[in-house]
Amino acid sequence: MTLTFPETYVDILPEVSAFLEQEHRLYIGGRWAPARSGQTFETLDPSTGKPLARISSAQSEDVDLAVSAARRTFDSGAWHHNLTPSDRSRLIWRLAELIDAHAPVLAQLDSLDNGKPVGKALKSDVPLSAEHFRYYAGWPTKIEGATIPVSTPGMLNYTVREPVGVCGLIVPWNYPLLMAAWKIAPALAAGNCIILKPAEQTPLSALYLARLFEEAGFPPGVFNVLTGFGETAGAALVEHPAVDKIGFTGSVGVAKTIVRSSAASLKRVSLELGGKSPNIVFADADLEQAVVGATWAIFGNNGQSCTAGSRLYIQRGVFDQVLEGVADETAKIRVGMGMSAHQPDLGPVVSQEQLETVMGYIHDGRGSGAETVIGGQRMGGALADGYFIEPTIFVRVQDRMKIAEEEIFGPVVCAMPFDDPAEVLQRANETPFGLAAGLWTRDLSTAHRFAARLQVGTVWINTWGDTDAASPFGGYKQSGHGREMGKDGIDLYSEVKSVWIRLG
Ligand code: ADP
Ligand code: MG
Repeated sequence: MTLTFPETYVDILPEVSAFLEQEHRLYIGGRWAPARSGQTFETLDPSTGKPLARISSAQSEDVDLAVSAARRTFDSGAWHHNLTPSDRSRLIWRLAELIDAHAPVLAQLDSLDNGKPVGKALKSDVPLSAEHFRYYAGWPTKIEGATIPVSTPGMLNYTVREPVGVCGLIVPWNYPLLMAAWKIAPALAAGNCIILKPAEQTPLSALYLARLFEEAGFPPGVFNVLTGFGETAGAALVEHPAVDKIGFTGSVGVAKTIVRSSAASLKRVSLELGGKSPNIVFADADLEQAVVGATWAIFGNNGQSCTAGSRLYIQRGVFDQVLEGVADETAKIRVGMGMSAHQPDLGPVVSQEQLETVMGYIHDGRGSGAETVIGGQRMGGALADGYFIEPTIFVRVQDRMKIAEEEIFGPVVCAMPFDDPAEVLQRANETPFGLAAGLWTRDLSTAHRFAARLQVGTVWINTWGDTDAASPFGGYKQSGHGREMGKDGIDLYSEVKSVWIRLG
């Protein structure tokens, strides 16, 4: 496929052009193989709607091959037994260094595939991914069991933490490299073998990552990549009896399907899902800080974040002032093609499907009586072929409107006034989701009271969106099962074995 890009794009790196033009295969057992069926699909540049590459579409027979390869490697002990913990640390650290060394290439691949500004990918997604591997590189030498003071006479009892086995990791398209890193790094550190299934919208950086695994010198079969669709490759991975665990990040609907179809083998399942995260601005807050924070809480990554601050509650006395501030801040956001040399703040949404979903919500909001104070349109002109949507703020929103209840996963926020703390706490918690929440206040007791009572996995106070490889992340309620990151990430990818020994 001969690729041409808009003139406004930054120079495509020679490594990126060469990579895009090669034949893309599946990475199984340390070898590159086309899908057995020969089936392929195209991945697109959402800034232009044009194809970037033709990708192998894994079917169930390819899943069988990848599972056998990962199984063989796991059962041989090539990763978790034959290498010392220190050897495993060194390899994971080496991978982090290779990610750093190839950062410009990875950033361009994620920008082209997902539409996100290449500068953001380079400043944030890629270094955070490397940092995730560096953090978990420290773990293999620190995964300890315990000696348990049992009351059974004459017995020694101790525990060891062991890898779960073969892990199928299914990731979304919003932060292609980073979401893969969040799962791969703890799974590797805990000693598992991995089959990664990137999203069909954004397969490129996962395939490039496989090359880096090769270059780092991991034993073959420790890391495998199956590109393909959720309903085929993803579903076959979930149903496979020899897969011990599924780590999934994605939508609630798919998560429910996964839980149902994992029941046959009762494999372990951890889920990091969506949200409708409340962001609460109290009148006593540093309003300048809150305005900027509230703007980027929703519009960061174009609202395509599971933690997007999509319900903005503003205390009534400062509602107009804060709303005006957020609208002004939003008006300054420059939307453009991800690879544009003009360094836009935001790119397009990821796909035609996503564009239609988000525009559907905007029409629904208007239809049910909400009003846009800014945005609300698909963007035309030079951006007409891509999937561009204006950052959109709704007011006159009722709590039970669809736009206030459902995850939109796009650049749309509902701004709603509230009167008192008890009321806003109740409204904030009145949702099936529980991923994250934020509040802006100078009052320490309000801050702590809300931190304790918000039914969410992460609370941000006078800040939004911070994550760190060392800090646990995950959801209450329908936002997920389990915690990723930090020590919790190791727990999520390991089993505990209790050993009893009769003494004398
Ligand atoms: P979105 O709707 O935002 O694209 P999804 O939950 O559909 O999010 O996708 C997240 C990941 O789950 C992707 O890698 C996708 O291919 C995969 N997926 C989708 N459907 C299934 C399924 N039925 N079984 C397993 N994985 C799936
Ligand atoms: Mg794509």
